[in-house]
Amino acid sequence: MTEAKASLPQSDTITEAAAGAILTIDLGAIQENYRRLKAKLGGVRCAGVVKADGYGLGARQVAAALVAEGCDSFFVAHLTEGVALREALGPQPQIHVLNGLPPGSEPEAIAADLVPVINSAGQLKAWSEAGQKAGRKLKAAIQVDSGMSRLGMAPAEVEALAADAFAGVDVVLVMSHLARADEPTNAANDAQLKEFERLRKMLPKAPASLDNSSGIFLGPRYRYDLARPGAALYGINPTPDEANPMLPVVRLEAKIIQTRSIEKGAGVGYGHAFLASGPLRAATISLGYADGWHRRAASAAWFEGVRLPFVGRVSMDSIILDISALPAGRLREGDLVELLGPSQSVDDAAGHAGTIGYEILTSLGPRFHRRYINE
Ligand SMILES: *Cc1c(COP(=O)(O)O)cnc(C)c1O
Repeated sequence: MTEAKASLPQSDTITEAAAGAILTIDLGAIQENYRRLKAKLGGVRCAGVVKADGYGLGARQVAAALVAEGCDSFFVAHLTEGVALREALGPQPQIHVLNGLPPGSEPEAIAADLVPVINSAGQLKAWSEAGQKAGRKLKAAIQVDSGMSRLGMAPAEVEALAADAFAGVDVVLVMSHLARADEPTNAANDAQLKEFERLRKMLPKAPASLDNSSGIFLGPRYRYDLARPGAALYGINPTPDEANPMLPVVRLEAKIIQTRSIEKGAGVGYGHAFLASGPLRAATISLGYADGWHRRAASAAWFEGVRLPFVGRVSMDSIILDISALPAGRLREGDLVELLGPSQSVDDAAGHAGTIGYEILTSLGPRFHRRYINE
């Protein structure tokens, strides 16, 4: 272990007995979601997007589960994520780095056999030169900006590319990203499709990719040769206007660390933001915003289908619940209540917090015991 590494325990060393909360990740559900997306895609190949440590759920575990389903193509955001994934998966799968390569980091990408997503003419030049120096063509994905204005070569940049711009690279994918794929009737999707079609023709002939999770549900015209779903694999609804076609993947349960009786008139938690209007029974759970639990992500936890409202503010390491709906003595120290799961989905929590499921998942912190099931 290096000096710089924090000395705090990490999830993989936190036992179930010692943990304050338990995050269960259903790898079988991720595999089923992958199969559902593949079925939707017909014969089109399907990659797995495992950036940000597999949307917070463990890139190594998620990717291994997808490899078992025949997935041979992955996307991460950072070079360092790609290096770690290469170590975990071995030489076979193609690993793409969405954010491109920071200048000077090309040798690290070559060493790990990563495919950078080239987002500018400057990045293309650097990668092509690295290839010429190495004496071989280096694999690259070229991203064009078809109308999201975030990442990718601008149309003018594509139009201005010199004939020898690709001298040191082997273009294995041409891609773009949709800004409004979750709004199936929005005209922006069609406009991006047309622009992607136009720009693609100016680039070396290669397999193309446009769909993220929601894009897969936009129909066959958007599918091209490779889809890049992330969120839907993890159970987030890719069709927000309709019922969720995916299986839920995560369950978050927190431990009760104390129970008490609260008298009428007592102030509860910071700021006494809750005042007991009558006597109640309360339980304090070991989960707070330091665990990546958004302070506004819910107003209740659940136990065997019974709603247990939060009382007072969410603290750094704890939340107080009103457990009066349960018989006295039913909940004890060490028992678990559900924060995410069958009673409260990731999308429910996101809606409550005014955010998106992606943020709920990627925020979940390192203090949980992580349990992987149905491997
Ligand atoms: C994150 C990302 C994806 C995956 O998007 P989801 O909405 O999670 O399916 C695909 N492509 C690019 C370029 C991305 O940044």
